[in-house]
Amino acid sequence: MLKFVEALRFTCLPGCTRCCRVQGWVYLTETDLRRAAAHLGMSPREFEERYVYRTRHLLRLRKPRGAQCHFLAEDGCRLHPEKPTQCRIYPFWPELTGSPSAWRNEGRTCPGIGQGELVPVQAVLRLSAEMQESYPEMYPVPRQRSVPRRTRLAMVK
Ligand code: SF4
Ligand code: SF4
Repeated sequence: MLKFVEALRFTCLPGCTRCCRVQGWVYLTETDLRRAAAHLGMSPREFEERYVYRTRHLLRLRKPRGAQCHFLAEDGCRLHPEKPTQCRIYPFWPELTGSPSAWRNEGRTCPGIGQGELVPVQAVLRLSAEMQESYPEMYPVPRQRSVPRRTRLAMVK
């Protein structure tokens, strides 16, 4: 999936919560669900019943009325140390790191893009690969990539 990758400049800006207000869904892994529940002192079942919509292949956070996320508070994310994988990895999603124009355009949403230190290529690749592996339903692996993980990572360069 990644055709373009280079060291990208990024820093998450203090006080910013723009990416949490964008229209869209937050998807969870099963591990995300368990960690978020524990962080809030809830059982996974309680957390799921209250906050999660489960389909056959995906888990996503329910949205409160008139907002994008139950966990966005004045001072940031209430799940912060255990935030869902897609939130933690953003903006190093494969669809953004794989295209210079997509990365640039995402700067309209995320003011941290283009700021701060250069993020090494290996870190960008690792995060993008983690995103793909965490949400296989959203990033189906092409047949020719059905090979051991190490080889697959090398092929996405
Ligand atoms: S939009 Fe960018 S800078 Fe703002 S909170 Fe999200 S990742 Fe950080
Ligand atoms: S879970 Fe946290 S980081 Fe993710 S969208 Fe909600 S408030 Fe933002």
